[in-house]
Amino acid sequence: MPNGGPDNCGTCGFNRRNRGIWRNPQPDETVTAYCELRGIHPTGDHWTYCENWHTRMRKIAGPVYKSGLYEGGYHRIPWHGDVEPELNVSGTCHECRQPFDDGISIPTVEGAPAEFCSNRHYFQWWQRQHPGEEAPMSHGFL
Ligand code: SF4
Ligand SMILES: [Zn+2]
Repeated sequence: MPNGGPDNCGTCGFNRRNRGIWRNPQPDETVTAYCELRGIHPTGDHWTYCENWHTRMRKIAGPVYKSGLYEGGYHRIPWHGDVEPELNVSGTCHECRQPFDDGISIPTVEGAPAEFCSNRHYFQWWQRQHPGEEAPMSHGFL
């Protein structure tokens, strides 16, 4: 399957489609993807990730991630809390002030949406917004 890694919500036992079975060969296709641990509906479950896939423990481990902009490879970017970043938007970068045609947006920040030209500039902003939080699944692109 061409995706950003096999450890995604689509194969996670916490996804109610999988009824507690990791890499379930027969997920319940009649059920909408829903994370019973975090209470979220990932829009693209095969492109959404978190460390609890690996820990298989109910203690929340770090943020949720999605596959960010394709920049010579797949990169995981953390959600802004429970807000999923939107991709492939145009705008002006919050960090470098450059206009872009294919970037990242956080739509629900108070006031204007926060827009970013690249995974790196989004992550710089995310780190300031989440002091003391770690996003180890994102560190590969830094
Ligand atoms: S958010 Fe994490 S725990 Fe929830 S279904 Fe996705 S990988 Fe599993
Ligand atoms: Zn930028």
